[in-house]
Order: sequence, then structure tokens, then C-alpha cells
Amino acid sequence: MDIPLLQERFGGRAPQVRAESCLNARHRHADCTRCVDACAPAAIALEDRLPELDPDLCVHCGACVATCPTDVFSQLSPPEKTLALTFEQLPGAAPLELICSLVEPAKTTHAPVAARVQHRRCLAALTPEQLLTLSGDGARPLWLDDSACAACPLHPAHAVIRASVATVNGLLAAVGRTPSLALHTEDADRLLDEPIQRPVLDGMRPQVSRRGFFGALRKMAEDRVEQALEEEPAPMLRAAAPVDQRLPRQLPPSRKRLLDRLARLASFEEAAEAPLDREVPLAGLPFAAVHVDPAACSGCG
Ligand code: SF4
Ligand code: SF4
Repeated sequence: MDIPLLQERFGGRAPQVRAESCLNARHRHADCTRCVDACAPAAIALEDRLPELDPDLCVHCGACVATCPTDVFSQLSPPEKTLALTFEQLPGAAPLELICSLVEPAKTTHAPVAARVQHRRCLAALTPEQLLTLSGDGARPLWLDDSACAACPLHPAHAVIRASVATVNGLLAAVGRTPSLALHTEDADRLLDEPIQRPVLDGMRPQVSRRGFFGALRKMAEDRVEQALEEEPAPMLRAAAPVDQRLPRQLPPSRKRLLDRLARLASFEEAAEAPLDREVPLAGLPFAAVHVDPAACSGCG
């Protein structure tokens, strides 16, 4: 793997790591390896069960940021925010296709979309909440071109992309909306037989109006405040502490944003008296789960 070349293609920096937020720090029986599994260049290693990142090996793909259930990895001003701005400038329900920065931005596609948008990074960097935003909460059909992932040097990231897409589609279905995300590898039957010509837009060059510019500045300031608040250390596992003080009492910020958004969507659907499917599919949801073995539990409380 040509690490300097990939670092140049993705740009940016290695994520910051807050190891104290790791599931393995919070629960002594946790055995999470999601970041290690997603990191193709093996830049993340678990030392004493906690993640350590080697910035010389990191290619800045962002897969660990999206896959960690407790927001251990973070980046200031990630390109996904600029991508969201680019999408804001495009017609709301126009079907679009996302391609990553490693594939050739061909002007033809088999996906039934109005345009292709090239993202600066690997598509695995997009969190479920960001995918939900890009899809206009399900109003916009959004294709992700993952046809090159199997042959990509970062191919472990493909599992992260598929999991995020399945999560968003599952959540949309749970609030009564049509799942709007599609993957080339999993939805091949919906691809067109013949390729069509479509423009390729640069996801890092939003056509921002004056109003949009000041809106983006305000959003940046809000993000900085949010980041500062997030930096307050999470409650740690303390061996002698009562059980109810060992587990974290706050939701990881990205999960909280996702839940807030879903709550708004669900109340919107309720207001419209749309039928709701209350059976939320748990498999693949981006939330940490603690499994208790009733046979091994002493009931100590
Ligand atoms: S997953 Fe990507 S961004 Fe995260 S440490 Fe590995 S190479 Fe760096
Ligand atoms: S894993 Fe797929 S989406 Fe990610 S960089 Fe490679 S080809 Fe692109």
C-alpha cells in the first residue's frame, strides 16, 4: 500500500483519539475491535485494550471515525461537512451518486441519477447521520458507487460502508419512510443496462451563495462549541465504583445527533398520521450493546 500517495489523495490529517471513550475502557468485558478491523493500513493497534493510532501509517480515510460506536476518533472540519454543503446547493430530491476520491470520475454511470458527486475521501468516512442528511432524510435517492471497493487497498472499509447503508435504510424503514440508499454491489438489479452520461461534481466545491456562506460560518462556530463541550472527559470505569457509576451516562455525540434526528422524523410522521413500523431492526444499528450472560451473572447489582 502506497501510504504517502493515499495520504495525499485524501488530504487532511489523522484523526484525534480519545481512548478514554473506548468501549473497552468503559466496560471490562467489552471486546470491541471495530476500528482495528476497519483500518486497512493497520494504523490502529489496541494497547492494553485501548486504541493507539500511528499517524505515519494513517492514510486519513476516515473509516475509523464512522465505525466507532463511542466517537473515539474525531477530526476538526472533516471534508464530509463540505460535502453536505455541496449537497445543500443541489435540488432537494434529485437522485445523486457518490463516488470516492480513489475511483476515476467517469462521466458515465449505470445508476439512475442526475449527477455524480466525488467525495474527497473513502465513502466509509460517512457516518449514518451524515448519510441521512445527504439523502434528505430519505427524500433523495442516493447511490454509493462501491463497485471498486473489492479491489481497493482499503477494502476492509467496504464492510463499514455496507453497514452504514444498511443502518440508514433500516432506520428510515423504522420511521415509515422509503429506504433511499443503494449500493452498486447490493442493488445491481436496479442499475441501468446501458450507461448514461452524467456530470461529475466536486464535493469539495459547493457553489455557496452569500447567505449560504454566512450560514456555513455560523455552523462552523456551532461545531467548535460542540467540539469544546465534547472534550469534557467521559466517565471512566472505576473498579471500586458502584455499578451504576461505572457505565457512561452520556450518549456519544454522533449517536445523540442521529437519535435526535430520528425523533424529529418519527414525530413528523406521527403528525402526518403515517403508519409507523415500531419494530426497529436492531441488527446493524450504530449503537453499542452490552450482552449479559444470565448463567454467569451473580446478580451482585
Ligand atoms: S481507519 Fe483510516 S483514518 Fe482511521 S486510523 Fe486507519 S487509516 Fe487512519
Ligand atoms: S474502499 Fe471503496 S469507497 Fe473506500 S476508497 Fe476504496 S474504493 Fe473508494
